[in-house]
Amino acid sequence: MSALDAIRCIETFVISLPREVPYLGPLRPGESINARGYLVRLGNKTIYPSTDMSVLVKITGESGLVGWGETYGVAAPEAVTSIIDDLLAPVLLGRDPATPRVLHEDLYDLMRVRGFFGGYYVDALAGVDIAIWDLLGQLLNVPLSTLLGGRRREALPAYVSGLPRATLRERCDLAMEWVARGFRAIKFAAVVSDDGVVQEMAALREAVGPDIQIMADLHWKFSAPDAIRLIRRLSEYDLAFAEAPCQPEDLEGQVMVARAGLAPVALGEELRTVFEYRPRFEARAMGVIQPEMGHTGVTEFMQICDMARTFHIPVMPHASISCGIFMAASLQAASTLQTMPFHEYQHSIFDKSLALVTGTMACADGFYTMPQGPGLGVKPSDALLAHVRSQTRCA
Ligand code: MG
Repeated sequence: MSALDAIRCIETFVISLPREVPYLGPLRPGESINARGYLVRLGNKTIYPSTDMSVLVKITGESGLVGWGETYGVAAPEAVTSIIDDLLAPVLLGRDPATPRVLHEDLYDLMRVRGFFGGYYVDALAGVDIAIWDLLGQLLNVPLSTLLGGRRREALPAYVSGLPRATLRERCDLAMEWVARGFRAIKFAAVVSDDGVVQEMAALREAVGPDIQIMADLHWKFSAPDAIRLIRRLSEYDLAFAEAPCQPEDLEGQVMVARAGLAPVALGEELRTVFEYRPRFEARAMGVIQPEMGHTGVTEFMQICDMARTFHIPVMPHASISCGIFMAASLQAASTLQTMPFHEYQHSIFDKSLALVTGTMACADGFYTMPQGPGLGVKPSDALLAHVRSQTRCA
C-alpha cells in the first residue's frame, strides 16, 4: 500500500500565558512565586507554574498539510521539547501519518527497556501522537472523532472544576453562579479548603441545594484510613466522587478507600498508559477514571477507555492546563465514548483558551459543544503563538 503522506518536519513550541490569579486560587500564607515563576502549594506540596505553560507540536507532511498537538508543559517544559526534537523527530521523518497507532507503538519501544515508560517521555509521545492524528484528519478531511469510530453526541455534559476564590463564602457564591448558568455538577479542591474539607462540602451543599452533584478533589493528600474517615463525613452531604484520595503510588491505599464503598473513587489524571491503568482496574481501585489527554495522547486515551469498558467503569476525562489543542482532542475522543457522564471543565483555563485557537468549541449551559471541521477542529491562533517562550524550527 502506498503511503498517504510522509512526515517532513516536526516543530515544538513552549507556551507561557500570563494569568491573573495562580492556578488553584490566590497565594496562601507562606506561598510565593520563585525566580523561575513557580510556586509550591503547601496544601499538597506540589509545584505549579504562575503562568499557564504548555508544549505545542506542529507536524508538517510532504503534502503541505499540518497537524497540531499539545502536551502537558506545566513544569520544566523544555524537558519535553528536548525529547521530541532530539529523539522522536528524527525517527519520525519520512513516516506515513496515516499510521498513528503504529508510530505510537514504535516510539514507545525506543526507550522502554531503559525504563522510560511514563513521565516526561510519554508526555512527549502524547504531543506527537495528537499532532499525527490531527494531520491524518486533515489528509482525509474528517474529524478526529470519525477516525476513532464515530461521534455519539455533539454536546458533552461538563462538570465545573475548581472554585478559585479566596474565601469559602466567595466559593459558594461562585458555585451558585455556575448553577444559575445551567451546570449540574461542581468539583472543589480540598487543597485550598482553608476552613476544612467537611466545612467546605457542607457549605457548598447548603448553597447549591440537593440536586447538584458535588465532587471533591482530595489531591493525593491523605492516608487511606484518614481518607475513609473524611469521605464518610463528606458522604453525609451526598458526595458524587472522591478524586485522588491517596498518594499516586499507593495502590493498596486506593483500593482500601474504594472498598470502603462510601463514594466512588476517581483516579487517573497522573497516569499515562494502559500499563499504568491495568493494575488499578484489576484491583478495582476506582469507580471513575479520569484520563488526561495531555498525558496520554489520543492512542493511549482510547486504549485506556476501551479497557475501562471491559471493567464497566465510566470515563470522566480530566482537563488540565491546555491552550485548547489537547482539550479539543479530548472532546473529540470523549464524544465517541458510550459511558462518559461528564467531561471536566476547567473554566479558568478553557474559557481563556477559546481566544487562543481558531474553531468553534465552547462550554455553556452545562455542555461542551464540539469543534467542527477536520482533525481536532481547532488550530493555534496568532494570539497563542505570540506567547512562545522557546521554539525549534524545521531543519
Ligand atoms: Mg485532580
